[in-house]
Amino acid sequence: MAGEPQDDCLFCKIVAGHVPATIVRETETTVAFRDINPQAPTHVLIIPRAHHKDAAALAVADPALAADLLREAQAVADEEKLDSYRVVFNTGAGAGQTVFHTHAHVLGGRGLEWPPG
Ligand code: 5GP
Ligand code: ZN
Repeated sequence: MAGEPQDDCLFCKIVAGHVPATIVRETETTVAFRDINPQAPTHVLIIPRAHHKDAAALAVADPALAADLLREAQAVADEEKLDSYRVVFNTGAGAGQTVFHTHAHVLGGRGLEWPPG
């Protein structure tokens, strides 16, 4: 069912504390932690505690929770003292999504090219 924890989901395991992560912020509805393979000096992932496979599914199932992720992106940027940053939701394998529990990448701390690859 939408939102329920999935046994085979890495990010559900991080939410449950069964897989360790370097957590930078937590709210009632979200967890933010450092990416294990950072692509910028700041590379933080923000996830909903509830399992939704991607940003599109989350937006349909729980728009308020989708908004929580965006609010947390700014909070992470503030804590990391980023004036500019990029929020990325890779959606679908063809776009590079490898973990199917929606997550916002917050990238900053270096110049970011546009368009991205
Ligand atoms: P995606 O490719 O799905 O958009 O992003 C998944 C991200 O999760 C990747 O940037 C990858 O480095 C990160 N990642 C994969 N496994 C782990 C892990 O066990 N811990 C943490 N902190 N990040 C992970
Ligand atoms: Zn999950």
